[in-house]
Amino acid sequence: MEVIVISESNGDLLHPVTAQLVGASSSLGGNITILCPGGKGLSEAAEISGVSKVISVEGDCFQSYDSNAWSKALAPHAEGDLVLTSSSSTGRELASSIAAIRGIPVLQDATNISEGIVVSRPIYSGKVIETSSVKIPCVITLRANSYEASESSGKAEISTVNQTADVTISIRKALERAGEKIDVSEADIIISGGRGMGEPSNFSNLEEVADLLGAAVGASRAAVDTWDEIPHSMQVGQTGKTVTPSLYIAVGISGAIQHLAGMRTSKYIVAINKDPEAPIFGVADYGVVATWEEALPALKNELSALLSN
Ligand SMILES: Cc1cc2nc3c(=O)[nH]c(=O)nc-3n(C[C@H](O)[C@H](O)[C@H](O)COP(=O)(O)OP(=O)(O)OC[C@H]3O[C@@H](n4cnc5c(N)ncnc54)[C@H](O)[C@@H]3O)c2cc1C
Repeated sequence: MEVIVISESNGDLLHPVTAQLVGASSSLGGNITILCPGGKGLSEAAEISGVSKVISVEGDCFQSYDSNAWSKALAPHAEGDLVLTSSSSTGRELASSIAAIRGIPVLQDATNISEGIVVSRPIYSGKVIETSSVKIPCVITLRANSYEASESSGKAEISTVNQTADVTISIRKALERAGEKIDVSEADIIISGGRGMGEPSNFSNLEEVADLLGAAVGASRAAVDTWDEIPHSMQVGQTGKTVTPSLYIAVGISGAIQHLAGMRTSKYIVAINKDPEAPIFGVADYGVVATWEEALPALKNELSALLSN
C-alpha cells in the first residue's frame, strides 16, 4: 500500500503531528512518502523513521495558506492508496479538496486507523465512537496526539517538485492574514477565556500570557456571542474549533459539555475559575480556584521570572 502523508509545519519547522501521522501509517504497513508543502520542515521530515521518500512541493502559492491553491499543487503528488493529513483546520480543508480533485472518499477526524481500512472517530461531541470501513484509495484526517510519534532515526530520500498555482489568491490571503495572531487550531498551547473574563478588554490579560508562552488565545461561545470584539474564529467547542494542544488553559470558563467537546482531548488541561464546583475542574489536570484577576498576574510573574533566568 502506498501511503502519502501531508506534513504540517509550525513556521519553518515541522509540526510534531507529522511524526504521529507516520506512526499511524507504520501500523498499517506499506510504503510511506511525506509531501512537504513549500518545503517546510523538509530535513526533519526525512529523519522520521519508516519514511522512504520525502517530496518538497514548492511554488509561489506556498508563501501563504490558501486551500484551493495548495490542494491543486499537492494533488498530483498525492496519488497514493491512503492520503493522511492531521485534522487541524488546514489538514481538514486540504483533505476534502484533494479527495474532491481525485474523486475519492474522505473520512475526517479519526482517532484510530487499523488494517482494512477501519477507522474510528468520536461523534456527537465525543459521546460515541463510530467505527467505519473505507475502501482505498481514500483520504483520512487524524487527530493530533492519537498516535505515538515515529522516532527520528531515519534517512529518507529527498526530492523537489515545482508547482505553480493561483498566485493572486495566495497574495490576497497573505495580506488578509498579515495582522492575525496564531490560530487556535495551529497552536500547541492555548489559553482561552470565557464569560468570566467580565469584558472583552480583559482578554488583553490572556494575550500577555499567550505572548510569553507562544500560545494562541481562544474563547468560549458565551464570550464570542456576548462580545463583538471576540471573533468566532477564536471559539473552541462543538460549534467552534476542535483543538488538541499539549496545554489548554481555560480561564473563567464553566466547562459546558459543548465547550469540552472541542478541547477535552488536549494533553494537559489547566482550569482557573472562582467557582470550585465548575464542571471544568472535572476534566482539568490542574485546577486553580481563584479569580482570573488574582491568578493571571501571578502566572505572568512566574513565567517572566522563568524566562529571564
Ligand atoms: C448547540 C450548542 C452548541 C454550543 N457550542 C459551543 C461551543 O462550540 N463552544 C462553547 O464554549 N460553548 C458552546 N455552547 C454554549 C455552552 O453550552 C455554554 O453556554 C458556554 O460554553 C458557556 O461559556 P462560559 O463558560 O464562558 O460562560 P459561563 O457558563 O457563563 O461561565 C463563566 C464561568 O466563569 C467563572 N467566573 C466568573 N467570574 C470569574 C472570575 N473573575 N475569575 C475566574 N472565573 C470566573 C464562573 O464561575 C463560570 O464558571 C453551545 C451550546 C449549544 C446549545
